[in-house]
Order: sequence, then C-alpha cells, then structure tokens
Amino acid sequence: MKKKLGLVYGGKSAEHEVSLSTARAAAQAINFDTYEVMPIYITPEGEWRTGTSLTAPVDTIEELRLDGQGSSEPDSIAQFLQLENKPDVILPLLHGTNGEDGTVQGLFEVMNIPYAGNGVLASSAGMDKVVMKQLFAQVGLAQVPYVHFIRSEWEKEEARLLDAAEQTLQYPVFVKPANLGSSVGISKADNRESLKQAIAFALKFDRKIIVEQGVTAREIEMGVLGNDEPACSVPGEIKPVAAFYDYEAKYQDGNTELVIPAHIPVDVATHMKDMAYRAFKVLDCAGLVRADFFVTESDEVLINEVNTMPGFTPTSMFPLLWQHTGVSYPELIDRLIELAIARHAEKQ
Ligand code: ATP
Ligand code: MG
Ligand code: MG
Ligand code: MG
Repeated sequence: MKKKLGLVYGGKSAEHEVSLSTARAAAQAINFDTYEVMPIYITPEGEWRTGTSLTAPVDTIEELRLDGQGSSEPDSIAQFLQLENKPDVILPLLHGTNGEDGTVQGLFEVMNIPYAGNGVLASSAGMDKVVMKQLFAQVGLAQVPYVHFIRSEWEKEEARLLDAAEQTLQYPVFVKPANLGSSVGISKADNRESLKQAIAFALKFDRKIIVEQGVTAREIEMGVLGNDEPACSVPGEIKPVAAFYDYEAKYQDGNTELVIPAHIPVDVATHMKDMAYRAFKVLDCAGLVRADFFVTESDEVLINEVNTMPGFTPTSMFPLLWQHTGVSYPELIDRLIELAIARHAEKQ
C-alpha cells in the first residue's frame, strides 16, 4: 500500500510564491512508487484546495494552483481534511506566517496527522526573531545587540525609541519585521532618518519590529537534520552581490554565489556546529532547521537566526548543504517523512 502524502504548499504568507517553487521541486523529486501524493494548496487568501492525486512529476507552478478544484473556506478546514481522504503524513512546504509559525502545525496536531518538520513550539518561537534571540541568549549563544518594540509603542513614543536604538546600537543597523522570512520587509539604515523609514516599512509587515546592530561579516549557514539526536551538515557560505542578501538576491537575480563547503577554519566550523546544535535544542526543534551565522573578520561566530522551514528547492542552501554531506534531495524528503512518522509514533 502506498502511503498517502499530503503536500501542503502556498499559504497566506508573503512567502507564498517561494512555497510554490518548493512544492514544484518536491513534487518532481518524490517517489511516486512509494507515495500517493495529495496536493493541498492554500491560496494567498487562506482558502484550502485539494485536487486529484498527483501520479507524475508536475511541470509548472500553475498546475499546483488547482484552479477550479475542490476548495474550502478557512473556517471548515478541519472538516475538509477529515472528510476528504485523510493523508497518512503531511509534508508542509510553507514559509512565513500561517505556515512556518506553528499555526498550521497546531492544526495537524489536532487532526492527529504526522507532519514533517518542526512542531508548534519550535515553529512559533523560531518565527519570532525577538523570542528566538531571547532563547538563544538563555543558552549563551553569541549574537548581535538589538532593540525591539511593537507598533503601539512606536506610535506613542517614536522619539524615545529612536534615542534608545541609537544609544544601544551604531549605524548601520538592520530593521526587520519580527515575524517573517526571505528578507521581506528588511532594510538597512545608516542614519536616523533612514531608520525611521525602515521602521515604517517593516511595520507594514508586522506589529513587532526588531532593530539589530549591522555587522560586517561573512554569512555562513548550516543544516541540522534529525529529531532527538540531530546531525549537522557541512557549512555553506553565501556571497550575495547585493548590499545584503535581500529578497531579489535570494529568489530573483541568481547572482548569489553559494560556496559549499565554506572555507572556514576547522575550529570555527566545530564551534558553529555546537552553536547550531544548541540552537536546535533550546527551541526544541524536530526534523530540520537551517542555522544562519555571521562570522566576523576575527572569526567570531554570531548566530543570526534559525529557519524552521528553510528554502527547500534543489538549489536552496539547505538541500545543497545536505547534498554535500551525502544526502540527496529525494533522500532528504524521505528522511523528513521518516522523522515525521517516528516523532508522531513517539507521542502516541
Ligand atoms: P531568511 O529566513 O530567508 O534567511 P530573514 O527574512 O529571516 O531571511 P535574516 O536572515 O535575518 O532575514 O536577514 C536577511 C539578510 O540580511 C541576511 O542574510 C544578511 O544578508 C542581512 N542581515 C540581516 N541582519 C544583519 C545584521 N545584523 N548585520 C548584517 N547583515 C544582516
Ligand atoms: Mg529567517
Ligand atoms: Mg525564513
Ligand atoms: Mg536568514
């Protein structure tokens, strides 16, 4: 009997299109002899659609939008998943809010369906850059200084918050929506005026804002794979040509160079592995994360973040890191599904 694999993608998120690219790549790599693949598409409006099972790799993203196929309004999703052919296991390929942040994971928990990747707690803590940094600090992980606030505080005391940012940090700083990814809403600010603009921009995406100390550093990432005893991949370096690794550099310009394995001293790589492992543990992660680091000129390693559902196309960093560590893209998908089932079995 083939396992019914629910492929969940799209999502009510600023990273909707990224998820579609991932879903296409996954739907090309999945072994159709082992799995019956059920596409489950979440539109940008949060409507759920499912169609007939995929029996062969899909060519275009358009096919994945399941136009005109069975759909459900957001308030009857649970019913929809129960009544239609319930999947044996779900591969959630969602990024950003409503997908990477624990909400959809909570739904799968309630439905009692095993799902790949991180659980509710790790997903939500990993989505909020402020909460994540506070947890990292708890286990002594080095990171950049930062300040944070929410929209209502900004509206009441803009001048005081700007003063506080300028006292704690030095320009340039990076302003980010606390809950997002793919560099959406992020900008670099070199002075008070541009800081104000960057904050106004970030507030379009989130009610919570983080302002971080900008660092001049190499950007190195590491993949972590597993449940209770996870393994780390080789490190990989990102060399963006843009001013920073922004949305265009990630998904559009194709100019960013990835160097895998990164050329870093062995002791730096060992230290990074230990940090990635501690970050995975403190968030109580499962399945996978990609840990992003800054390495300064003096080889100081700072953790920037972990991504609980990292970019997952065959040309994305996480799958490439594993490919260089000896795990191919199709094997990686199988492994994540196995880990999902093992974790679910443990909870019963
Ligand atoms: P993703 O989830 O896709 O990795 P994200 O939206 O969570 O991205 P970050 O990784 O925090 O965003 O930042 C995006 C990019 O901005 C980084 O890869 C780096 O190029 C740059 N950047 C972020 N913070 C800093 C910082 N404090 N100093 C220097 N550069 C930074
Ligand atoms: Mg991120
Ligand atoms: Mg992300
Ligand atoms: Mg990042």
